[in-house]
Amino acid sequence: MIYKRSSALFAQAQQYIPGGVNSPVRAFNAVGGEPVFVKEAKGAYLFDEDGNKLIDYIASWGPLILGHAHEPVVNAVIEKAEKGTSFGMPTAIETEIAKLAISMVPNIDKIRFVNSGTEACMSAVRLARGYTGREKIIKFAGCYHGHSDSFLIQAGSGAVTFGSPNSPGVTQGTAKDTLLAEYNNLENVKEIVLANKNEIAAIIIEPVAGNMGCIIPNPGFLEGLRKLCDENGILLIFDEVMTGFRLARGGAQELFNINADIVAFGKVIGGGLPVGAFAAREEIMNYLAPVGPVYQAGTLSGNPLAMAAGLAMLNELNNNPQIFNELADKTAYLHEGMDKVLSASGIDYTINRIGSMISVHFTNVQVTDFKTSATGNNEFFKKFFHGMLAEGVYLPPSAFESWFLNNALSYSDIDFTINAVKKVAKNL
Ligand SMILES: *Cc1c(COP(=O)(O)O)cnc(C)c1O
Repeated sequence: MIYKRSSALFAQAQQYIPGGVNSPVRAFNAVGGEPVFVKEAKGAYLFDEDGNKLIDYIASWGPLILGHAHEPVVNAVIEKAEKGTSFGMPTAIETEIAKLAISMVPNIDKIRFVNSGTEACMSAVRLARGYTGREKIIKFAGCYHGHSDSFLIQAGSGAVTFGSPNSPGVTQGTAKDTLLAEYNNLENVKEIVLANKNEIAAIIIEPVAGNMGCIIPNPGFLEGLRKLCDENGILLIFDEVMTGFRLARGGAQELFNINADIVAFGKVIGGGLPVGAFAAREEIMNYLAPVGPVYQAGTLSGNPLAMAAGLAMLNELNNNPQIFNELADKTAYLHEGMDKVLSASGIDYTINRIGSMISVHFTNVQVTDFKTSATGNNEFFKKFFHGMLAEGVYLPPSAFESWFLNNALSYSDIDFTINAVKKVAKNL
């Protein structure tokens, strides 16, 4: 494939934008080479500035679960745009999407919309601190909860990729309130809770981690966290920015049948526009301004275009719940196909999968946490990534990211992908 125009556009972008990108992982630093500039996309396909067609396995990092430029979503946005794009006043559609989201997700009474997953997680933690009157939080190594200060402590994907888990600019004062635990290690969490009795406001976790590859909670792990929180007056925050409206209609809470105290959303809930949200039971959400004392606000929060896209997306998922099964079937098919060709190649690998999230790790150990994820052979991944790209398959440009399937992918797209894996594996 030729990337002449992408290369020229990247050179220009670097003159005006740090690293030429508005979010670091897009720059391809983890895999080498230069990023592909996308021109347009439809369904499961990306079309880049040089006219190459690529099968997309990132779906804008999750939001586009039904594929690119999905018509009901596009039409909803166009229709709204003609009537004004922002008011800073309440609109009826905010209640409409709130009501629908609450009906789809277990165990939440009220929801507040923001503009990104980062904002949602940041606000969820502030709310937990305000509600409990405590200051510390526990997060897990390799989990990503957006780029706000408290979370940039071993934060997975982007941060890990660049080998700077603790970003300069995060103060010691902030860092000391974030306690770090190991994913899938309940004993470790218990020790931390015991050592900080009555000081921990919340445990925040990706119920399926997607920012160190795709990592599935061991049986009993999330249940154990729930019990530990209940026994110690700690709020359990599920960061469902990735898993919400993806793993099931009601996200990971529904899939694992575990109730969190506060849930953060992003990605799918905005249908590809900038939206995040956080939600909880009534008594917790009523701690939020203007009803309660915990402040949180946003000029563009509940923006009509964003709400129209999100509402159209949630309606599609709510009215067609078989989508989740179709996606899981397609992902299982991809898993089986890759298993066959990779095992024949004799390379060390392990594949993690749940629902429509999947990741390939070039290691001979089971990947269950950040440490085991980091055993993956990154040189292999780089070659694999570029090999797949040359075959016309766009994977996340980092070994520390989950792939996201979208339902516009056909079985023949997946067959094409498996065949590409077969070709690429030969040259690894
Ligand atoms: C993407 C992501 C975020 C951050 O969301 P942004 O919209 O990028 O700010 C937070 N948590 C998880 C689990 C994510 O995957």
